[in-house]
Parts: sequence; C-alpha cells; structure tokens
Amino acid sequence: MTQEEVFKNLTAHCKEYGFIFQSSEIYDGLSAVYDYGQLGSELKNNIKKYWWEAMVRLHENIVGIDAAIFMHPRTWEASGHVGAFNDPLIDNKDSKKRYRADVLLEEYIAKLEEKNNKEVEKGRRKWGESFNEEQFRATNPNVLRNQAKIEDVKAKMVAALNANDLKALRDLIIECEIVCPISGTKNWTDVRQFNLMFSTQLGNISGEDGTIYLRPETAQGIFVNFLNVQKTGRMKIPFGIAQIGKAFRNEIVARQFIFRMREFEQMEMQFFVKPGTELEWFKAWKQTRLAWHKALGLGDQKYRFHDHDKLAHYANAATDIEFEFPFGFKELEGIHSRTNYDLSRHQEYSGRKIQYFDPETNESYVPYVIETSIGLDRMFLAIMSSAYKEETLENGETRVVLGIPAPLAPVKLAVLPLIKKDGLPELAHKIMNELKLEFNCQYDEKDSIGKRYRRQDAIGTPFCITVDHQSLQDNTVTIRYRDTMTQERISIDSLHDLISSKVDYKNLFAKII
Ligand code: ATP
Repeated sequence: MTQEEVFKNLTAHCKEYGFIFQSSEIYDGLSAVYDYGQLGSELKNNIKKYWWEAMVRLHENIVGIDAAIFMHPRTWEASGHVGAFNDPLIDNKDSKKRYRADVLLEEYIAKLEEKNNKEVEKGRRKWGESFNEEQFRATNPNVLRNQAKIEDVKAKMVAALNANDLKALRDLIIECEIVCPISGTKNWTDVRQFNLMFSTQLGNISGEDGTIYLRPETAQGIFVNFLNVQKTGRMKIPFGIAQIGKAFRNEIVARQFIFRMREFEQMEMQFFVKPGTELEWFKAWKQTRLAWHKALGLGDQKYRFHDHDKLAHYANAATDIEFEFPFGFKELEGIHSRTNYDLSRHQEYSGRKIQYFDPETNESYVPYVIETSIGLDRMFLAIMSSAYKEETLENGETRVVLGIPAPLAPVKLAVLPLIKKDGLPELAHKIMNELKLEFNCQYDEKDSIGKRYRRQDAIGTPFCITVDHQSLQDNTVTIRYRDTMTQERISIDSLHDLISSKVDYKNLFAKII
C-alpha cells in the first residue's frame, strides 16, 4: 500500500471511530475546519496535559496563562500582522486554482531533491558495499546539476521573499517552468499578497471603525501580559509564560486533513531572557523540545531540524522540528529567537514602559524572547499517523491497531465479561467502578471476545481485562496487551498498580528531565 493510501485509510478511520469529523458535515462541511469527536477530544486533552505539565509543572520558572482570543486591534499593528502577515498567492488562469507562490517553489525544490535521492539509490544498488554516498554526491554530473539548480532557486526565492519582490517570485516560477498540478499549464497570474487574519466587528471601540481580528497566534496574548505576570508572579529572568489556545488563519492552501486548518490550536511558550544570552537559550530549547517529542517513542528517525533560510522580520534565529508525516517531512513545531521585537513594539504602540528591572545588576532592559510553538492538531496528526497500523496476523486475519503511547491513549482499559450472565457482568462492573476513579475505561459485553479486542485495538486501548468464570472462584482476570496481543492471568487486586505503572505520565517525564 502506498503512503497516500495509508493516509486515506487513516482519515477514514478517524471518522469511523469518533476521533475527527468534518465541521458542519450535515451541511456538506466547511473546508479546513474540523470537529474532534468523543475519542479525539480525549486524545487532544491528553496531549495538552503532556505539554502543559512538561512545560509548566516541570519548570519552576515557567507559568501558564489563558488569554482571550479577541485583543485590542492595536496589538496586531504593533506585532506587524496587519502589515505583514501575508502569503504571496498566484492563480492559474486555466484551472482557476490558487497557490502559495513560495509553496510551488518549495515543491519544485523537493522534487529535485527527490531526483537526487533516487540517483543516490541507483548508485548504491550499482556499487553495493563499496558505495560512498558523499563522494557520489560530489561527483555525479546529474546530482551536481540538480544541486546547483536547487541552490540557485533557493537563493532567488529567499531574496525575493526578503525583498517582498512579488514580480521576482513570479519570474522564478516561470523560469522553473512550474505547471499547475490541475490544468498542467503555465498560464499564471501576477503574484499578490493576501492577509491571513480573519476580521470581525466589535461595536464599541471608541474612535475606531470597530474592526477586530481573531488572533492568528497565541503569542501576543503572552507579550501583552508580560508585566502583569512578571510583577504578580514575582518572576525573575530567565522565565517563561506558556499558553494553549485557539488561533485562526485564513489559509489558502488548506489540505492534508488537520495538517493545515483555518481554526486550530497552538501550544506556545515564550521564554524571556537577558539580551545577549538568547542564542544559548535558543540552542537549549531546541534540545529540550526534541527530547519531549522523542520521549513518546514514535521513532527518533522521524524528527529532524530544519533551520530557516528566510527569517521572519522579528527573528535572529529560527528552526522547525519537522516530523515525517505520511506525506513527507513537514513542520510540526517552530522554535524562534524573536529578539526583543514584540515587547519593544508593544512598548512603542501602547506608550507603556515594558521593561525588566534586574535586581542583581540594577539595570532595566527589554528582555529577549525564545519562543517554542507547536500546533496541537499537527501533534495529534503526528501521533495518529505513526500509531496507525494495518497488520496481518499469523492466522491470516488482519487487524487495525492504534499504537498510541499508553499515557496518551483515549481509553486506558476495557473491561469485558466473557458472557452476559452468571454474575460476570456484575463482577466486571465492580472492577470498572474502582478503576474508573483513576482511568478512562470502557465496558463492553457485546459480540465475541475476539471482536471486542479488535474494537479496542482500533481505538488504541492498551489493556483489555476479561472476566470469566474462574474470576468468580479465585479473584483473577485475564489482561491482554494491545501491542503484543499476549495475555496473562493476574489477580484483580494487582490491576490498578499494573495499569498505573504503564499509563503514568511519569514514564514520559522521566525521560526528559
Ligand atoms: P506553516 O509554514 O506550515 O504555515 P508557520 O511557520 O506559519 O507554519 P508558525 O506561525 O510558526 O507556523 O506556527 C507554529 C505552529 O503552529 C506550527 O509549527 C504548526 O504546528 C502550527 N500551525 C500553524 N499554522 C497551522 C494551521 N493552519 N493549521 C494547523 N496548525 C498550524
């Protein structure tokens, strides 16, 4: 099966089992907007908990807030979003489809990189053991030609984006002979800028036209509260403020399921540091965040850093943690050294002094900021896409299993009476009533035990507990493990401790501190 087919199956699976639904589906849906169902919202809450506790509880110098989505419109002038939160868009005149000019160019570069990788694989097959990839890349004429083109296009694209030169972007698309994937033609319009913020009206902002925006990032809610939190929390630099909340962007290229949405959730942390120390902290946060991802055990090879060629107007260093989604390596989290740009701009636009007084040096300064920003929905997709497996078993049957890390699994255990009589349901309920005080449990007595196991595999439940006649005699049950499908008989009294030891977030946190 191709990755594309697996991804299609995963998307269908998310709907079939109540993880994700298209928004307003009965009205034919709203594009790039999704609702989380009964299991999806459990998983989402568990991811939030993993992030929040790793950030706020494990770091004595990080606190969390929950700022409003609506903010004073001046916020977005100060932050630069009104003037510069734009995507360069280009339309194909034949298909009438709209694209991000930079994405078309990035896809063109990715294709050349793919070509080179294929050449390397060919070489590896040809030369076998004695193959030297570095030497091959440095000497093979096809690879060298493609590489020169990649570098040329990259350099021209970055220069055009930095100079905001829309004509140069279009010229580059023409020069690369990029065609529209739908119409196959090179009949392109000019490139235009399109602001990504959604606006709406608020009735009572005096002296202004009342236009306000749905926040396109949660970060600004943190910046405008810098002094509030620093003073009331008596925070000393270096310290961080974390937040989880909704953000809205009028994305044009909205596809790949929940990868790019118009309404999504971010988990952001702004870490305030002394000027001059920011690049050290940037380096440290890169490692801390990567360790947080790796602790989940989805596979270390699925992550890589991608340093930015084009830095945002506010940044002096930036990297993405990319994850290998079924459609390739893509950004999962951004880590940015945002300098003192945001606080300085809010100082300027609000007329309030936003500075930190350092009691040790008796100096005041505008702190520098390192930001870590991860999309909750993208994290959800990363987990689901690596957890989803279609397996063929030894007996030839197939099963779909979600290998979600146990602490994040929406349902931790299912209690299954072997049959619906002889007092087994009563004992099963008794066990469940105790365990549900701590764990999210399901009770299921319908269909054969095999079918019930499959249902639990399909939603990623790590443990199934089967109550049978022997349980009434000797107070034992069978526990069945999702990943290995092995079973063992254990005493009912030991269930709690066994499950707790496997689903505890402590297991994850222990790997990152
Ligand atoms: P991209 O390059 O994919 O548009 P970005 O660089 O604009 O993303 P940031 O502004 O750095 O993204 O936002 C931080 C994080 O928020 C991203 O790493 C991503 O996980 C998430 N994110 C951004 N835009 C979206 C979106 N439209 N849908 C879902 N998640 C998003």
